[in-house]
Amino acid sequence: MIYAGIDLGGTFIKTGIVDPEGKILGESSIPTGAGRSFEDIAHDMVLGVMEALKKAEKDQSELTAIGVGIPGIADQNTGRIVFCPNLGWRDIPLKEEIQKYLDLPVFIDNDATVAGLAENFSGVSRSCSSSVFITLGTGVGAGIIINGKPWSGAHGVGSELGHMTLLADGVPCSCGNNGCVERYTSATALARMGRQAAMAYPDSQINSIAGSIDNIDARAVIDAAKAGDRIASRVFDRYVTYLAMTINNITAFLDPEMVVLGGGVSHAGSFLLDAIRSQLPRFLLYKGLPSPRVELAQLGNEAGMIGAAALGRVNTAS
Ligand SMILES: [Zn+2]
Repeated sequence: MIYAGIDLGGTFIKTGIVDPEGKILGESSIPTGAGRSFEDIAHDMVLGVMEALKKAEKDQSELTAIGVGIPGIADQNTGRIVFCPNLGWRDIPLKEEIQKYLDLPVFIDNDATVAGLAENFSGVSRSCSSSVFITLGTGVGAGIIINGKPWSGAHGVGSELGHMTLLADGVPCSCGNNGCVERYTSATALARMGRQAAMAYPDSQINSIAGSIDNIDARAVIDAAKAGDRIASRVFDRYVTYLAMTINNITAFLDPEMVVLGGGVSHAGSFLLDAIRSQLPRFLLYKGLPSPRVELAQLGNEAGMIGAAALGRVNTAS
């Protein structure tokens, strides 16, 4: 049994042929060409599957299912894409279009959910029956895995953790609300807090590392904090507090076995992990009891393909 996992991004359509252990046997990458019709893009997705099959030296008849991770939300029952802002798609029958070429089960889900499933399939949370994956990038996405299966909610929007409210009257969010989690825990948020601090304290190493205020990104703040800069350390500690509050909210609500951190800020590695692990206990409700392990994601860029393939696997497993 093999599965095709398609990672549909705004720039590339990446496809992997994946075995039941989560190993990629062959892969392909085709430019998405955002702005084209969905029929054209779906056709290229099918070509990508064919090319990856060839590289894996496998036959189409060996494929069990196709999974697709999209930067948007999908209706699990119909296989239609509800909304995909990067591609300008609304209510697109993607499953139906793929099935015009390949007579196989097709499953579609959000890319952060798919990345979380990948970690649960063959990454850091593989021995866990429940986990929550958080991606700390430009925005904040999440994937919820319960009993080995993704939980995307009754309406497909159940893991939009980035838009839970952390602060009433907080920083305005692109969603129209204020004080959303992603305004305080994304890489963008860390950069914003770093810029504010660097303007107030021009002597901070954040300035010298970034070169100019406009160049300050999350990495400059982290590097300055790692170097022991007092202002950067204060900004980073504040960021970690917001993230610890978010993880505590997840724990109070769901109590998963593991919380997995991925995305750009997670590249800070043990510097981030140690800081989170030291701040988290003060927020937890049941301090004496075991709590979710917090770990870093392991799969990196391949998570999209592996997770999409896993989507096919968990949905066709008897
Ligand atoms: Zn929001």
